[in-house]
Amino acid sequence: MNTYDFLIIGAGSIGTPLAYHLAKKGKKVCVLEKHASCGRGQNRAAIGGIRATHSDPAKIKICTMSLDQVRNMHSEHGIDIDWIEGGYLFPVYDTQRERNLKDLLKVQKKFGLNIDWIDADAIKELVPGISDNGLRGGTFSPNDGSASPLKTAGAFFKLATAAGAQFKFYENVLSMEVKDRKVVSVKTNKDTYSAAVIINAAGADAKDIGKMYGVDLPVYPDSHEAGITEPVKPFFKPMVVDIRPDSHSHNYYFYQNIEGQVVFCITPHPKIAGKDTDNTSEFLPLMIKRMLELYPRLRNLRIRRTWRGLYPMTPDGFPVVGVTNEIDNVFNAVGMCGQGYMLGPGLGKIISDMLIDNSKEYDFILKQLTLYRDFSGEEMLK
Ligand SMILES: Cc1cc2nc3c(=O)[nH]c(=O)nc-3n(C[C@H](O)[C@H](O)[C@H](O)COP(=O)(O)OP(=O)(O)OC[C@H]3O[C@@H](n4cnc5c(N)ncnc54)[C@H](O)[C@@H]3O)c2cc1C
Repeated sequence: MNTYDFLIIGAGSIGTPLAYHLAKKGKKVCVLEKHASCGRGQNRAAIGGIRATHSDPAKIKICTMSLDQVRNMHSEHGIDIDWIEGGYLFPVYDTQRERNLKDLLKVQKKFGLNIDWIDADAIKELVPGISDNGLRGGTFSPNDGSASPLKTAGAFFKLATAAGAQFKFYENVLSMEVKDRKVVSVKTNKDTYSAAVIINAAGADAKDIGKMYGVDLPVYPDSHEAGITEPVKPFFKPMVVDIRPDSHSHNYYFYQNIEGQVVFCITPHPKIAGKDTDNTSEFLPLMIKRMLELYPRLRNLRIRRTWRGLYPMTPDGFPVVGVTNEIDNVFNAVGMCGQGYMLGPGLGKIISDMLIDNSKEYDFILKQLTLYRDFSGEEMLK
């Protein structure tokens, strides 16, 4: 039997940085991943947006800690992950959304976030050529930004292995043996493992893993499509998020990456539940229509590639982080919805501080993200 202090299931947006933070504290860590390398689950579907400007204390804290790590990855570790501090911009074209975002701004400012309302002229400077027909202004947070999810996973993999973590690729977790409220063994297609603590970081498959230790996790994947254009000279800086819905979609968002490619994705309406990741024929016509209405200047860009990935959704749009009442040695880090990439590095540090140093500093996060909360609320900008 291979015995570890921590056994992490899933080398994705969450599991990979978590392995680094646990191993860095001197623990014996093993990550089981069914794919050939890290980041090949939903991590690689993410378009790379990272912001701390949420509306609730848990995600603000986690993502602020993520931003610190991503922003400093090159200066601290010499690893380039294509970080751009371009900010997040929510342009507004109607009074109702102006009121909503201005109300949210009060909460965000209370948490000390660097975000403000800017007028239409300031928006036109940030995004030259954006439609100004009815543009009222919007919120802008200059310290948010974007980076490459695959390079980020690669960076944390490098740091984690240097710190002593082991990654077992092509290892599909198939079953677990539970005895006296504990998972005593984890079986994969190749081997058997045990650990003092088992961490479920299996993303869209978290519910299936939960069943193996008898806990019903409310994680229901739905799919979202994204695309990327050819590279062109940089012409706008922020991640632009249009939160106006139309009859077939909710919000969509896009930015220009370090190579000059415009990367974009949309939230379909109604949502498409399930794990199918084949491209649909509806995505591009829908996306292009909406993006060109907002930003006509994109019209000559050629699209290189599209893809469809999964959000591991929960009923209220918030992650599930913490222990279970039924099993003593399992910790869940699941249900990351549309924000797992930006939550991963911060959550890795926080979970390692909690589980190894017994830090109580983050108890408010455990309380907010517990599996045993009332899931009837809904996150505004999930
Ligand atoms: C189109 C699109 C755009 C997105 N854009 C953003 C964005 O800009 N910013 C952002 O923060 N988020 C974004 N997301 C969301 C983000 O991709 C997810 O929230 C995040 O990747 C989830 O992280 P995770 O670690 O929980 O899951 P994953 O990264 O999928 O990792 C889970 C891992 O567990 C492994 N696994 C599962 N079952 C088993 C098993 N039985 N045995 C072994 N291994 C197993 C999987 O193979 C996978 O590698 C986007 C998602 C999509 C689809």
